[in-house]
Amino acid sequence: MNSVFRILFLLLLLFSASFGATSSSKVWDKGYTFLKFLETYNIPANVYWSLYDEDKELTAEIYAGVRYYTLIDSDNSLLQALIPLNDEVQIHLYKDSDTYKVDFIPVKYFKSNVSIAIAIQKSPYQDIVELTNDTNLANEFINIYKNAIDFQKSVLKNDKLALIYYYKYRLGRNFGNPEIKAALVETNRNPNFLFAYNDGKYYNEKGNEVTGLFFQSPVKARISSRFSLNRMHPILKVRRPHYGVDYAAPKGTKVKAASNGRVVFAGVKNGFGKVVEIQHNNGLKTLYAHLNSFSVKKGQSVKAGQIIAQSGNSGLSTGAHLHFALYKNNKPINPLSNIKSTTSVLSKEQKNEFLEIAKVYEDKLKVAIMDNFSGYTPSYFAQK
Ligand SMILES: [Zn+2]
Repeated sequence: MNSVFRILFLLLLLFSASFGATSSSKVWDKGYTFLKFLETYNIPANVYWSLYDEDKELTAEIYAGVRYYTLIDSDNSLLQALIPLNDEVQIHLYKDSDTYKVDFIPVKYFKSNVSIAIAIQKSPYQDIVELTNDTNLANEFINIYKNAIDFQKSVLKNDKLALIYYYKYRLGRNFGNPEIKAALVETNRNPNFLFAYNDGKYYNEKGNEVTGLFFQSPVKARISSRFSLNRMHPILKVRRPHYGVDYAAPKGTKVKAASNGRVVFAGVKNGFGKVVEIQHNNGLKTLYAHLNSFSVKKGQSVKAGQIIAQSGNSGLSTGAHLHFALYKNNKPINPLSNIKSTTSVLSKEQKNEFLEIAKVYEDKLKVAIMDNFSGYTPSYFAQK
């Protein structure tokens, strides 16, 4: 073998060794859909169409801006894709010999707990941003206190503020929004505590709700399926989340806006059929799916109770129902715990559970304050 051939041969070896599967991450574009994704990678659309209705509905949860991961083989075929639906669950699409399979699996992430304490100088918002560089966190803080404190009137310079929150990261990146677990703001040396409970709402140290997310029911109909993060499907016998509430509304039932807001989507989404989405205050969004028709358009402002659509069974092979969902910063939360007609007071059992959580966090807030301002033990802590 002459030397040129030998070098070429070596190069070829090197190439084939480095041309293994390549992984990459991208951001989901606005308007991109799971079906278009399949098309991009030359995967038969049948992979989508053969899914159960429930699973089609889940693929419609993918939102613009989310970061997803692909693993591409040396022959350019997709080996695997991981596409998050939210912070907790992702689509796992993978090659299985000559065909592709779809599954829904938990997102693996790390949680990082952070406590901060600040002596307010400019405003709670500005001071939080200056310390953490996180406008999402500052916005969330302002949102949860919106109904409790008028910061401009009540907060004085050097009043203390403490926050315990966590953020999630995976594969070396932050993702999702920071979640505030507990917060404290002094006004006039009095404490204003807020603690998160597992219903997505905030309560003060006595267990009284303060965030006041008040939605009204979008239809008058029996509930046929509730919100669940891990429901066992009665027929399929698989665990699947259900990110909304189903109302057994006959086709043609009037659908009303659950609260004041602005229509951000009115159209067709695979898996949801005809859909209306309304953006409300505080990063909240409601979604109304499987509609027969809708009477609003994108950009339009709507009032609570205004008729926006008629229910139906678009995008479904089964019967008519309204799928109603509520999201906070793209995270699905239980609409029923935020609807006016349902009680906004914790049951005795819930309250006991909440008070125990609150006690733990109150101590953590105390530590955060005392660590940051040595020698400062506010009287409201000492009283306990
Ligand atoms: Zn549903």
